[in-house]
Amino acid sequence: MDLEDVFEALASGRQLKEAALDPSVQSQLAEYGVFATEGVLSLQRNELLDSATIESELNEATRMWLRRLDVLPWTESTNSDLLELSHDRDIDGWVRTAEVQTSGRGRRGRQWVSPFAKNVALSVGISIDRSTAEIGAISLAIGLMTSSVLDALEIEDVKLKWPNDVLIAQCKVGGILIELADAQRPASLVVGIGMNVNDAPGIDVTGDYRATRVVDHLASCSRNILVARLINGIHETVRGFEEFGFGAFKNRWALHDVLLGRQVVLSGVEPPITGIGAGIDDEGAYLIETDTGLQRAIGGELSLRISDD
Ligand code: ATP
Repeated sequence: MDLEDVFEALASGRQLKEAALDPSVQSQLAEYGVFATEGVLSLQRNELLDSATIESELNEATRMWLRRLDVLPWTESTNSDLLELSHDRDIDGWVRTAEVQTSGRGRRGRQWVSPFAKNVALSVGISIDRSTAEIGAISLAIGLMTSSVLDALEIEDVKLKWPNDVLIAQCKVGGILIELADAQRPASLVVGIGMNVNDAPGIDVTGDYRATRVVDHLASCSRNILVARLINGIHETVRGFEEFGFGAFKNRWALHDVLLGRQVVLSGVEPPITGIGAGIDDEGAYLIETDTGLQRAIGGELSLRISDD
């Protein structure tokens, strides 16, 4: 049995004897946070993702739009799956989530690391009738939606770090990865969200933020309900963005902006730019107040960090 076979067995509710597994598979499983109790590997139903529960929590409009919901035991990357599917079919309304990603991605080829059956890895294929220039800011609108979902759970101190990080109490709880599957109008997008629900991997998170998980701020949290709320939120946000543009979202950013008023450094440009975080503009670019005036940060290759700690 290889690692993926074990993921499949556990996700279908089967029990496995640890001793029957190859030692290399056992050590890989440990990396994905899967451990045996009294020599047996197993997961309870209520610990697993379930398509019927997710669908039952979707609102009417989202249900009408949804064409397909895949709940997989494992995949390399839910975003990559939808991008690949988009080569020869329409992915609008196609939603994919998995118990684990074996090659989860962040921006610029960075890794998104997450254990088995603990967190959320969600990707949504969706069309939007807006130009690619405007669509650049959608990551910020999806960030605002994600923070509203956490706010609604009464989690305090939910913040966003431009352009795609979701933080609780200054620690990273989630990331957003928006990828363009087809730029021709209506454009086809893959909206990806990774969120630490029950486990924050002990990774060396680059930059200023340690990782956190939702259950550090809430007694318990159903991944199925969270996934459903995020799907509802993505659908609603993209429809709103399509109708009204980024203007409908922009003003709410300041309420969540972790960089606002802080000393920041922008890397990805030579030389790096330092200054004070001054919020976003109408296109979703980040503004930095420098000695020589306001500078705009926009584009996928840039990285902004707090530098006054
Ligand atoms: P930027 O601030 O420029 O977006 P970033 O470091 O936040 O940079 P992302 O692509 O947003 O980059 O996210 C990937 C990074 O997030 C990884 O390089 C790693 O440092 C961190 N990371 C990976 N998995 C997790 C996780 N489960 N929870 C928190 N942070 C993670």
